[in-house]
Amino acid sequence: MTRHKVDHASLRRSLLGGLTSLGLFASLVFSSLISPLALAQAKELTLYTARHYSSDEALHAAFTQQTGIKVNVISAGDQPLIERLKSEGPASPADVLLLADAARLWAAEQDGLFQPHGSQRLEAAIPADLRTSSWVGLTTRARVIVLDPKRVKAINVKNYSDLAKPEMKGLVCTRSGSHPYMLSLFGSMLVADGPAKTEQWMKSVVANLARPPKGGDTDQIRAVASGECAVALSNSYYYARLMRSNKPADQEAVAKTQVIWPNQDKAGSHVNISGGGIVKTAPNAAHARRFLEFLASKETQAAFAEGNNEWPVVRGVAANNPALEKLGGFKADPMPVAKFAAQQRLAQQLVDKTGWK
Ligand code: FE
Repeated sequence: MTRHKVDHASLRRSLLGGLTSLGLFASLVFSSLISPLALAQAKELTLYTARHYSSDEALHAAFTQQTGIKVNVISAGDQPLIERLKSEGPASPADVLLLADAARLWAAEQDGLFQPHGSQRLEAAIPADLRTSSWVGLTTRARVIVLDPKRVKAINVKNYSDLAKPEMKGLVCTRSGSHPYMLSLFGSMLVADGPAKTEQWMKSVVANLARPPKGGDTDQIRAVASGECAVALSNSYYYARLMRSNKPADQEAVAKTQVIWPNQDKAGSHVNISGGGIVKTAPNAAHARRFLEFLASKETQAAFAEGNNEWPVVRGVAANNPALEKLGGFKADPMPVAKFAAQQRLAQQLVDKTGWK
């Protein structure tokens, strides 16, 4: 038995030895063909993205075809991506970070995860209220009211403030107040109305809830359709997604509900972004910049927004989305996204205080 073991071990050693010298030979041949300079300029970038759409994959391929830069995609949820970047530190391979919601982009900026994008092209293409020097918005979405027209008259729910009316008692459904989509909305109210008024509104809405906050935006739409509640909040793309779905349950949910563009007689509906920036420790910052410029180009914007039923950020580019077209036009609150995103700590304090868990 012992002999067999020894035989195997020596066989392994001689095999490994052979492979190692083969590898050494190969690397010698390669290093004479590829200069160290060429290796340093590897034409690739690593993208950390919270998006996961096949239309994005097609865009990445188009970018590679146009520039020769290969895109390595790491796709995960917003928060896991932020945590991963933090734990990887300077060793991270990430060049570009794409996240949903200005609140998350702002938080990532606070964590020091971005470097200034330094792109005049991005500044020229993207409206100033949808970007900072670190990150840029690439699509927009609105936070809308979804209601059951049989139980609540649209005329009575025209604004976010109407969710606090006493007659809405037991009729309102929302997701957790701690979610970035909610914190951003509260942040916009903090800027527009101040802390005292916002806190009072939040307290009143919590008192009107049909059930404790739970689920995502689509769950709120379904809860209105099923009669669990009569009024809810959702990002516009979740509703558009249901509109474009072939599933009977989704079509039924749309048939039973109605979308209201809030605050049309005020500043306009709360509009948020998905967007991204160049990672502070990006090994390929120039490629990252080029990639963001590509996503913000007129040629790319419609397809990029389309992937998640959103609107392009670049003016003059049409959404080209039948569901959004059907929902019609609306007045958007022009409040700079960085302004309300910066309110999220205070917004979270009010969530804790008012019990909008
Ligand atoms: Fe979302």
